[in-house]
Amino acid sequence: MEQRLVVSRNEVRIDCRALRHNFRCITEGVGPGVAVMAMVKGDAYGHGMVETAAVLADCGCRTFGVAELVEAVALRGAGIGGDIFVILGFVPEEAEQFLLHDLTPVVFLDQDIRALSQAAVRHGREIGVHLKLDCGMGRLGLLPAEVPAFKQRIDALPGIFLAGVMAHLPEADQRQAASTPQIFSCFQETIARIGAGFTGIRHIANSGATMYFQDTHCEMVRAGISLYGCYPDGSDGADIAAGSRLQPVMSFATRVAQVRDLPAGSGISYGHTYITTRPTRIAVLPIGYEDGYLRDLSNKGEVLVHGRRAPIRGRICMNLCMADVTGIPGVTVGDEVVLLGRQGEAEITADEIAGWMGTISYEVLCLFGNNNSRIHIDGER
Ligand SMILES: *Cc1c(COP(=O)(O)O)cnc(C)c1O
Repeated sequence: MEQRLVVSRNEVRIDCRALRHNFRCITEGVGPGVAVMAMVKGDAYGHGMVETAAVLADCGCRTFGVAELVEAVALRGAGIGGDIFVILGFVPEEAEQFLLHDLTPVVFLDQDIRALSQAAVRHGREIGVHLKLDCGMGRLGLLPAEVPAFKQRIDALPGIFLAGVMAHLPEADQRQAASTPQIFSCFQETIARIGAGFTGIRHIANSGATMYFQDTHCEMVRAGISLYGCYPDGSDGADIAAGSRLQPVMSFATRVAQVRDLPAGSGISYGHTYITTRPTRIAVLPIGYEDGYLRDLSNKGEVLVHGRRAPIRGRICMNLCMADVTGIPGVTVGDEVVLLGRQGEAEITADEIAGWMGTISYEVLCLFGNNNSRIHIDGER
C-alpha cells in the first residue's frame, strides 16, 4: 500500500542558505584570529539544533554552545564534531559524559571541578574546563574575588586544567551602554589576576558585543541571534551593505481554512473583543497560541495574504485566529498566509512581531520554531 505522509498546514521553514550567509558575515566581521562559537541552545533558537549545527559545521564552524549536557550528547550522537560547550553546568554524577563524548564543561561550582577531576582520572585523561565569571551580568558564575582561589583549587586537582574563562554581558545589544566597556575591563583585570599561568582562551562577546563592541572579541565570540538573521538591537540592518547584511533564516506560514463574509456588527471570536464596523471578509486561519502564535497578538498581529497585510481580528484561540482580508481580492481556501517572513514585496520580521508582543525576536523564534513542524530548505522554494 502506498504510504502518504500527512503534514500540518502550519510550516516553519528554515533557510539553510541564509544561515550559511549569516555565519560567513559573522566570521568575516571578526576576522581570522577569532573563533566563532555557534550558540545552538533552545533547539538553535527554534531552528533545529542538529540541522543547524550540521549546516554550520559544513561551512567550517568548529565550536558550538548549548545550555545542557543532554543537548551536547545529542549533537555528538548526530555526528557533530569540534568543540561543544555546555554552558549551564551539570549534575556531578554525569561528569563522566564530558569524557565519553569529548565535551567542554563550563564550571562555577566546586562540585563541578571535583567530579570532572575524578572522572578524568578514572579515564586516565586530562580535561580542559572553562570558568564562568560574573563581572556584572547578575546571573550565573563566580564573582571576580572568588576566581583566584577557584583557579588554585582547579590547579590542585589531578586530570583537570583551566582552558578558558568566559563571562556574559547584560547590555551589549545597546550600542551606547556604559556597562559593556566596564564589565569588559573587569573581565580583563580578573583574568590578569589569575596570573601568568593562564594561557587559555577568553570569550565574553555575544552577538551584540560582536557587532557593536569590537574590542571585546578576544579569542572567541559566541554568536546566537545574529546567526539566525536578527540584529541584537532590533534594527533591520537597512544601513548595512546588502552583501554583509544578515538574512532572516526562519519563516512561518499557514493556509486559509475558510473565507467568510460577515455583516457589520458581527462579534469575532471569544469575548467579542472585535466587532466588525462594515461588511467584512474574514480568512479563518488554522493557527493559534498552541502553535506559538500567542494570545498577546489578538487584535495586534498582522499576516501576509497575496503579498498584502491583513490584521488579526479578535482573540487568538488555541488553534484558530481570524485575519481581515476585506479589500484583498480573490482570497480562497488553501491560499498561503505568511505569519513571519516574506510574501511578494511584503515582509513581517521577528522584530516586528516581538514589538506587537512586547518581547524580543529571540522569543518569537523559539515560540514559532519549537511549536511547529519545521522544514529545512535552501534558498527560495
Ligand atoms: C545565548 C548566549 C549567547 C548568544 O547570545 P546572542 O545575543 O543570541 O548572540 C552568548 N553567550 C551565552 C552565555 C549565552 O547564553
